[in-house]
Amino acid sequence: MGDREDFGPTLDEALVLAERWLDGVREGRIPPQVDVEAVKDELGRRLPQRGADAVEVLRRLADAVEPGLMRMHSPRFHGWVIGGAEPVALGADWLVSAWDQNTALREVTPGVVAAEELAGEWLIDLLGLPAGAEVGFVTGATVANLVGLVCGRDEVLRRSGWDARTDGLAGGPAVRLLVGRERHGSVDSAAILAGLGAGRVVEVDDQGRMRVDALREALAEGEGPAVVCLQAGNIHSGAFDPLAEAAAVAHEAGAWVHVDGAFGLWAAASPRLRHLVEGVETADSWATDAHKTLNVPYDCGIAAVGHPETLHASLAQHAAYLPGSIDIADPADRVPELSRRARGVPVYATLAQLGRAGVSDLVEQLADAASAIADGVRALPGAEILNEVGYTQVCASFGDDERTRAVGEALRSSGTALASPSTWHGRAVLRFSVSNWLTDAHEAARTVAAVKAAVAAVG
Ligand SMILES: *Cc1c(COP(=O)(O)O)cnc(C)c1O
Repeated sequence: MGDREDFGPTLDEALVLAERWLDGVREGRIPPQVDVEAVKDELGRRLPQRGADAVEVLRRLADAVEPGLMRMHSPRFHGWVIGGAEPVALGADWLVSAWDQNTALREVTPGVVAAEELAGEWLIDLLGLPAGAEVGFVTGATVANLVGLVCGRDEVLRRSGWDARTDGLAGGPAVRLLVGRERHGSVDSAAILAGLGAGRVVEVDDQGRMRVDALREALAEGEGPAVVCLQAGNIHSGAFDPLAEAAAVAHEAGAWVHVDGAFGLWAAASPRLRHLVEGVETADSWATDAHKTLNVPYDCGIAAVGHPETLHASLAQHAAYLPGSIDIADPADRVPELSRRARGVPVYATLAQLGRAGVSDLVEQLADAASAIADGVRALPGAEILNEVGYTQVCASFGDDERTRAVGEALRSSGTALASPSTWHGRAVLRFSVSNWLTDAHEAARTVAAVKAAVAAVG
């Protein structure tokens, strides 16, 4: 069994195994080589009667799992919207696990709460949000969207004289939710969990941006409490809703305005790209991810709410055995969870290393690499770029749907670059998302070369 009390050998082995994996980041084949069932066979399907030595367990785990890992850290991995991990973020994440703090209460775990509170203040500043806004560290933008929608729901109901926290939703005024036609699927999940249903769909323009005239009409159709969910960063086009105008129209109608900016909110950190999120600070709540653009490891989402009283009223837990502070909110007052890891600490560490200029450079690097991929791919035989490339997303077609899918498949099986097959506006597309800190001009050129080879292979 080895010595269970000795961390040294186990952590040394974990470091060796982690480095073995990370060494393959740049050049290793991207897609997994085996499926789930094959990995289970390797891991051993039966719970052993007697356990094994910890170092042995880690070795077997890594040997069995690695062939089934997707190299999402590759600078030429452009699937979905997926960040890598800056070394400082990964290091801080390991410390978070070693410290193993239950990050619910200021008084109980002041060390990690301090780092998280600073990270929260820095984020508010970097993302151009109002100074009074508060941040909660959640698992991802899905839950951050949930936080924003729940706060919005409770606040507009409160203004209508209904206390959802005490009386629930049944019997109260109906809350209207308005969402853009090209919202992210997580908005639907969050809305359903929040008891708001699927919402009224508002039409969008050719880049997927919510149309302000359509929003105005949709709001005028009904009355009573309303929540409007805007989007900063469309996963296909990278486009941003006209945030300033749409928020103004929504506020005129008394609605709460939430912005899903999972990767797009980061445009605010760059003086060059900030115009994309103009007016974002006029919204009431925001969702973003640190595990995408900022390149911290999973899981790290950020919920920001401009009305702290509403946030605490909606999410705080009160229990006699919790020592909670009276005057100042605890971390648990800002998120749906009580017990959780100090997931804001890697954000602190990454921002401390990059600084304001470094975050700006990172976001611009991603946007520049996306433009370079778009320019390179556009020049290939039969290729067409379907979106206006102004941020980190590129949607390519290679002729008819069948050929586009075949190019995507050839690219994936080349192992050297990967993009997501998707459908946008009724056409098959290959979607390139640039979200990884290692993706620079050189790597963008290598992606284009890989696409060129895939196109040649398809013919
Ligand atoms: C990724 C994404 C989400 C969901 O975020 P998770 O971190 O996966 O929960 C929501 N909205 C947009 C626009 C996204 O790109």
